[in-house]
Amino acid sequence: MGKPTGFKEFDRKKVPWRLPVVRLNDYDEIYTEHELPHLREQGARCMDCGVPFCQSASGCPIDNLIPEWNDLVYNNRWKEAIERLHKTNNFPEFTGRTCPAPCEGSCVLGITNPPVTIKNIENAIVDRAWQEGWIKPEPPAERTGKTVAIVGSGPAGLSAADQLNRAGHLVTVYERADRIGGLLQYGIPNMKLSKEVVQRRVDKLTAEGVTFKTGVNVGKDIDPKELVNQYDALLLACGATKPRDLPIPGRDAEGVHFAMEFLTANTKQSVHGDQIADDFISAEGKDVIVIGGGDTGTDCIATSLRHGCHSVVNFELLPKPPEERTDDNPWPEWPRVFRVDYGHEEASAKFGQDPREYQLLSKEFVVDADGKLSGIKTVSVQWEKDSDGKWQMAEVEGSEKTWNAQLILLSMGFLGPEQYLPESLAMETDPRSNFKAEHGKFATNVDKVFAAGDCRRGQSLVVWAINEGRGAARAIDLFLQGESSLPAPGVTMGTSMQV
Ligand SMILES: Cc1cc2nc3c(=O)[nH]c(=O)nc-3n(C[C@H](O)[C@H](O)[C@H](O)COP(=O)(O)OP(=O)(O)OC[C@H]3O[C@@H](n4cnc5c(N)ncnc54)[C@H](O)[C@@H]3O)c2cc1C
Ligand code: SF4
Repeated sequence: MGKPTGFKEFDRKKVPWRLPVVRLNDYDEIYTEHELPHLREQGARCMDCGVPFCQSASGCPIDNLIPEWNDLVYNNRWKEAIERLHKTNNFPEFTGRTCPAPCEGSCVLGITNPPVTIKNIENAIVDRAWQEGWIKPEPPAERTGKTVAIVGSGPAGLSAADQLNRAGHLVTVYERADRIGGLLQYGIPNMKLSKEVVQRRVDKLTAEGVTFKTGVNVGKDIDPKELVNQYDALLLACGATKPRDLPIPGRDAEGVHFAMEFLTANTKQSVHGDQIADDFISAEGKDVIVIGGGDTGTDCIATSLRHGCHSVVNFELLPKPPEERTDDNPWPEWPRVFRVDYGHEEASAKFGQDPREYQLLSKEFVVDADGKLSGIKTVSVQWEKDSDGKWQMAEVEGSEKTWNAQLILLSMGFLGPEQYLPESLAMETDPRSNFKAEHGKFATNVDKVFAAGDCRRGQSLVVWAINEGRGAARAIDLFLQGESSLPAPGVTMGTSMQV
């Protein structure tokens, strides 16, 4: 522990975001530069507990050695801090920017005080390491002669590629999109995770010997059985890409889109400058309604604001969460409390109020004579427990309402991976249509074929995708070599946060 009395002396202070009214004018990252004295003070708040719940149990899914690097930051030993951090996390700049930080929810200091700003410190360590030039390509000293194909270049595929390459295997990543990164590239907007930050890692992996093939849809452009024959192992890391639809009357109206169509097109045109006039979905001058919350809903709000929407409202089916933990949600569980994310803050700054409306059930898209969307009808709902203690939803009589909208974005989560890959490989899926493979083993019923990330566990988080990519890499290394020195990330309680 750097400073035994740190937690008594210093209050929790997050590294501030740029002001909403300023950042709304661009797609740059929302973060400000972290100042060293600030971070040292925050690192000093870590109590180096006997049992660091932050890095185990319900905390960090990749077992980041949090108290160790808090101490190293307090003592100005930044180079050692990045070495510790890289032991458990291939991409701290991705989690340091996007992770909801379950570690902070289970920080022991959080029982009586606001928790340590773990995520900020993680991000600062890795940003400094890049700035100082401490992160450089390190190709493996020896090659094993074994080859692995990975389908999908999201955080699961990338972390597996990194680990397998370090173990000396020759890795080829197949990606159907035109750029590498999965949802790091085309889901999470630039404001939250700069695409330059993603590309920097991809370039490093390339320099270390990983091969990336974009624009190849495995199962359509190439038979996955060919990959099974051609490579010594195949890892499927295809994500959970089937969006949940809202099949109510008027669904075909011009102006109703899935969140991912909107976000992907925006990153292509507004960030990368691609000319995609036909696919770009503009929110400019429109009344926008985002149906569904979580990270995806917030990203849609923030992107609509940057387009210059006329108004933005976010529908939530569930009640507004409480301000504080409730009795049935004790520490060290993830706190299910009301949060104000960057998009909500920006909407409040622009329109004077939080965009979220709770307990609303969408009933019908309203369509004009030309087939264009003009609004949506809703009804309010009440949630009550039945005699078995299960939550039941009931519509409130007389609460019907019609909202104006020329653009509605569906952000209601994902229903698992697409099925053409398992079908062509005769691979088993679980009852939720995810690729069937046990966490820890990651092997499917098809010889040589493994699965990891959202396609195996269902929609989740970047940090869980890294956990799975690392775990699958170890399982594949064991399969190929009979032994492995790659680490096995733990199996913590896990979180079920919506994205
Ligand atoms: C809008 C949005 C915002 C999010 N924000 C956050 C956040 O802030 N924090 C957080 O922790 N999590 C967030 N998430 C969730 C997080 O991004 C995912 O859990 C994570 O990216 C899953 O990683 P993955 O590698 O399993 O899959 P993905 O990132 O989905 O990558 C899968 C890749 O496989 C490719 N692919 C699929 N099928 C094929 C095929 N047949 N051939 C070739 N390529 C194929 C896809 O094109 C894709 O690039 C967000 C999700 C969304 C949608
Ligand atoms: S990866 Fe997430 S849970 Fe782990 S230390 Fe970083 S912010 Fe916390």
